[in-house]
Amino acid sequence: MPFTLAPELHAQPTPFYHYDLGLLDATLTALQQAARPRNFQVHYALKANVNLPVLARIKDHGLGADCVSGGEVQRALEAGFAPEHVVFAGVGKSDAEIRLALAADIWCFNAESAEELAVLNELTGAQGRTARVALRVNPNVDAHTHAYITTGLEANKFGISLADLPAVVAQFSSWPHLELVGLHAHIGSQITDLNVFAELSQRLNELQTWLESQGHQLPHLNVGGGLGISYEQPDGQPIPDFEGYFSMFDRHLVRRPGQQVHVELGRAVVAQCGTLLSRVLYVKQSQSTRFAILDAGMTELMRPALYGSYHHIQNLSSTAPELLYDVVGPICESSDTFRKAVALPETRRGDLVAIRSAGAYGEVMSSGYNLREKVAAVYVGE
Ligand SMILES: *Cc1c(COP(=O)(O)O)cnc(C)c1O
Repeated sequence: MPFTLAPELHAQPTPFYHYDLGLLDATLTALQQAARPRNFQVHYALKANVNLPVLARIKDHGLGADCVSGGEVQRALEAGFAPEHVVFAGVGKSDAEIRLALAADIWCFNAESAEELAVLNELTGAQGRTARVALRVNPNVDAHTHAYITTGLEANKFGISLADLPAVVAQFSSWPHLELVGLHAHIGSQITDLNVFAELSQRLNELQTWLESQGHQLPHLNVGGGLGISYEQPDGQPIPDFEGYFSMFDRHLVRRPGQQVHVELGRAVVAQCGTLLSRVLYVKQSQSTRFAILDAGMTELMRPALYGSYHHIQNLSSTAPELLYDVVGPICESSDTFRKAVALPETRRGDLVAIRSAGAYGEVMSSGYNLREKVAAVYVGE
């Protein structure tokens, strides 16, 4: 279904984020229908979107929470996720964040270095507790996605490199307050070539066999997230290919009897249910270029400026013949451009514009640069 805005929302002050909770529900249903029969446990990566009505739906569908900061751990608990369904990853966990997660007794820390493990052991011991830990490895698998959202290569800061893993595992017995419960990898985001997940599975199979040879049986494997969505055709493919995704792991990942496999999806869950609505402030014609200047900019949706990423853009107010526009925001940066040479029906001041597939890594990255106000959110389909 193409995006339409309810008549009563046409008068809503812009810019604002519009969340379709009906589509979110349908996405979560499809996700669990693909995951549950294959016995995968899904954690939602909070960093994609932390709005409470969104989190409430996600929790109601039985997902756990994957957090990358103390603030996210707190938000997950506030949204009602049970501590035993919360995991905490991140290369730079502060002492305060670790203490907070320990106090909440979250299910697992995904640890990314020997240095972190030593601190985690010390802080855990000081509380007279034991912490469950999964080692986040850097499997050196190329996710074939944008360089800024690739995380599983040697050159990236994430995870324990394969070269360092033997030393970390050998050291593990010197950390009495840590219990090794699993292996974790997350190799990048917006992955559309599903073969990448087969390659990741094979790497994890090898690592698991090696860890067993070192005397470590792993009750859990965590394959991370990263499933991509269709930014080009949000209406043609509103729900990602969850079947293809899970069947890839099902076929290639070798599980031990009773072993639990976790995935951590963010973008694939929430991207398509969010749309950024904006009004055209001015249409400005220079010698070479026609600009549509919106009242939303990189302060509301940073992805195009940050990664050069594509979002489908629609003019909801015009059906005139199309012209080409550089669609830009009001912020004092040239990178504040949603896209150049966008074909839009002839556009005028006051037209409503929809920027699609903005539910993930959209509102969460909004900023107050230029002293912009916090962007509003509306929810439909409640
Ligand atoms: C960001 C992140 C995810 C989710 O990535 P998506 O591409 O949004 O699915 C999962 N796990 C970790 C550790 C992350 O940092």
